[in-house]
Amino acid sequence: MVSPLHSNGGAELQDDKVITSFGDLAARPDIRPELLLKLSGKLQTTLELSQLMEIFFNEIQNAVLVDGISYSHTASNLLMSIGRTSVHTASYRLQSHKDYMGDINFHRSTRFREHELANLEGLLTTLVYPVRNALRYHEALAAAFRDPLTGASNRVALDKTLNREIELSKRHGQELSILMLDLDHFKLVNDEFGHSMGDKVLKEAALCMANCIRQTDMCFRYGGEEFLIMLSNAESAGALRIAERIRQSIAALKFDSEKGPLQITASIGCATMSLDDSMETLVQRADKSLYQAKHLGRNRVIADTDDIGQITGKSHVR
Ligand code: GH3
Ligand code: MG
Ligand code: MG
Repeated sequence: MVSPLHSNGGAELQDDKVITSFGDLAARPDIRPELLLKLSGKLQTTLELSQLMEIFFNEIQNAVLVDGISYSHTASNLLMSIGRTSVHTASYRLQSHKDYMGDINFHRSTRFREHELANLEGLLTTLVYPVRNALRYHEALAAAFRDPLTGASNRVALDKTLNREIELSKRHGQELSILMLDLDHFKLVNDEFGHSMGDKVLKEAALCMANCIRQTDMCFRYGGEEFLIMLSNAESAGALRIAERIRQSIAALKFDSEKGPLQITASIGCATMSLDDSMETLVQRADKSLYQAKHLGRNRVIADTDDIGQITGKSHVR
């Protein structure tokens, strides 16, 4: 189902105008059924949304000339544009039954005429099911990289993302810092308040981290109650500021339970990338700083640049 949202292309679009069936379109004089069939066939060749939009953009030029297309699905964090934006826009919402499948805008430097808008709507019907399948594929992929309890990214995602980020930061001469965070005495939370309270605390703590970082940063669940936060474009002082903000906001969390109120703290180790770092050495330094934070009494942030003397003993055990 394709619902027009609005158009500044000059043509009158009624808000309740909805095109649902493919068959209606065969009667339309300006879209040849062969074109629709060819378009449908091509749209079935990929599950990648960006490729889908590119195919759609290229193919519809045979029916309606457009300068650019933009597509967004906010809940899935998807935003893409092909071609260029122009002054005139025709906007549609893609919907299948109750499934919202994103918004699509067509851009053009000249006004869209009434019959062109009708043609666009006809062409859009071929996009509905391929977009639905592509969104499901995208969601499945995203779920494979996400920790189901906390919503943070998982270890599989970490290996891919951090290695790539280290390479990019070296190539562009940008700073990169990571934080290794471990909740303090978390075993006691489970032991005294129960495992489901432990899960709740983990979720809330992960939310705190997500709320304290920028959109370009990422939070990964590294192990049970241990998280790695990747701070792109952050030098040591900036990373320490964010770490401190996270530490404070976790310490400020308050949980109620039958067994009374509960508060938790976290220890954080911070490391900033140097040019000879690999993912392993960078993580090792953050881990060492975390161990020092634990050793010095927990509920604190320690950076790899802090001079706090040699700490003896085993490395931090996870
Ligand atoms: P420290 O301050 O030294 O880090 O002490 P700790 O008690 O936090 O560390 P320890 O490694 O002894 O205990 C971690 C606990 O985290 C043990 C484990 O049962 C718990 N844990 C790990 N994953 C989960 C989870 O998904 N849910 C819950 N509820 N608990 C978890
Ligand atoms: Mg712990
Ligand atoms: Mg731990």
